[in-house]
Amino acid sequence: MPELTPTEREAIIRRRGCRSDKDGRKHHISNLEIHHKDRDPNSNDPQNLRVLTKEEHRELHRRAKR
Ligand SMILES: [Zn+2]
Repeated sequence: MPELTPTEREAIIRRRGCRSDKDGRKHHISNLEIHHKDRDPNSNDPQNLRVLTKEEHRELHRRAKR
């Protein structure tokens, strides 16, 4: 699968109610990002995607060192 376009990312985030999968709360869409659990940006199966805030996303990659 090709990488998600900005429009697709936004649609996925909205479909999930603009909630972070980590804290379960609503956030402004501009503060939300999509994380690929398997680190493959082309792997867009819904089960591979997590919606995270920018801060949560940064922290996840910082801890994982990638
Ligand atoms: Zn990520």
